[in-house]
Amino acid sequence: METQLFNKENMPEAGALLRKGELVAFPTETVYGLGAIASDNAAVKKVYQVKGRPSDNPLIVHVASHEIGQYVAEIPNVAKKMMEVFWPGPLTLIFNAKPGVFAPAVTGGQSTVALRMPDQDLSLRLIQEAGFPLVGPSANTSGKPSPTTAQHVLHDLGGKIAGVVEGGETQIGVESTVLDLTDERGLIILRPGAVTKEQLQIVTDQKVWMNDEVKVLNPEEAPKAPGMKYTHYSPNQPVILMRADWSIKISELLAEEKVIGVLASDEQIAEIEIKDEIIPYSLGSRTDARIASQRLYAGLRYFDNQDVDVILAEAYPKDGIGIAFMNRLEKASSAVYPQ
Ligand code: AMP
Ligand code: MG
Repeated sequence: METQLFNKENMPEAGALLRKGELVAFPTETVYGLGAIASDNAAVKKVYQVKGRPSDNPLIVHVASHEIGQYVAEIPNVAKKMMEVFWPGPLTLIFNAKPGVFAPAVTGGQSTVALRMPDQDLSLRLIQEAGFPLVGPSANTSGKPSPTTAQHVLHDLGGKIAGVVEGGETQIGVESTVLDLTDERGLIILRPGAVTKEQLQIVTDQKVWMNDEVKVLNPEEAPKAPGMKYTHYSPNQPVILMRADWSIKISELLAEEKVIGVLASDEQIAEIEIKDEIIPYSLGSRTDARIASQRLYAGLRYFDNQDVDVILAEAYPKDGIGIAFMNRLEKASSAVYPQ
C-alpha cells in the first residue's frame, strides 16, 4: 500500500480514510500517534498488528473536546479540575469505561479507558474529520523509539498504513503523563510525562503517587499498569547512561577501537575531544530538560543509522520533565556508568 501524506490543506481526505477503516498517523504535541477510529474493532486490531504490539497493552483514546460524558461511566470532580487546567495537553486520564462505546480491542479487556485531548490543531482537526475519537499509540514499530517526525513514522510504517499527517517536529517529544483515576487507593501516575506530579497535586489538592511508590504503600497489590511491562525503547546499539567520568569511559572505549555515539548536552559535548570515532548528537543546553526531551527519540534514531558500536547518553536531574526524560532513557539503557 502507498502511504499518502496529508497536511492542513487536505484533512477531509485523511478523515475519509479513517472512516473507511484505514490507519492514518498524526502529529500530537507529544509524539506521532497511529490513528484508527476507536469504535472500529477491525481497524483497532490492525493498529496492534502493524505496530507488532501485544494485544493486552491498551490504547489511549484521543478526543477533540472536554465533552466526554458519552464515553465514560462517570467523570469524577477531580477529573473535571484536571481537564480544565491540562486539556488540551499531555495528560492522559484513566476512567471507568461506558460499556459498548469503544471497540473491545481498545481497552485490551479492561473495564477502564484512557482518554486524552491533544494540544495540536492537526490532531484535533483529524478527530473532528473522523467524526469519532481516535486511538493513538505511538506510530512506531513496538520496541523502537517513538516517532517525533513524519519521517520517523514513514521509516517504521511506510507502506503499511494508509496515511500520515505531516506536522513537523513534535513539541514535547516524550509520551503523555498517564494518571489512573480508578484506583481506590488514590491518584496514581502510571507513566511520567510533561505534566508533573507536583502540578497535579496543586490542581487536585490531593496526594498523587508514582506507581513505584504504590508498591511501597502496599507490596501485596501492584498498581494496575497494563502494558507498562512492555514499554521498552531499544535502539540498535547498547546505550550507557552516563552519570560522570566521561573521559575515563571514552578512553576505555577508544582503546577497544569502538566507535562512540554521544547523546549529550552542548556543555558536555564541548568537554569531549571530538575525533573521527566519536559522533555527537546534541540534546541542547544542560539547563533545559524540555529541549533534551524533545530531541531524545530523534537522537536515539539518528544513531540507528550511524555506524556506532555504543551510545553514551547523559543523565539529567530528575525534576520537572527531567523525570519523564530519565524514565525513557533508563528504559533504553543497558548499563549505568559509573556503576
Ligand atoms: P502508548 O499507547 O504506547 O502511549 O501506551 C499507553 C499506555 O497507557 C499503556 O501502556 C497503558 O499502560 C496505559 N493505558 C492505556 N489504557 C489503559 C487502561 N484502560 N487502563 C490502564 N492503563 C491504560
Ligand atoms: Mg508507544
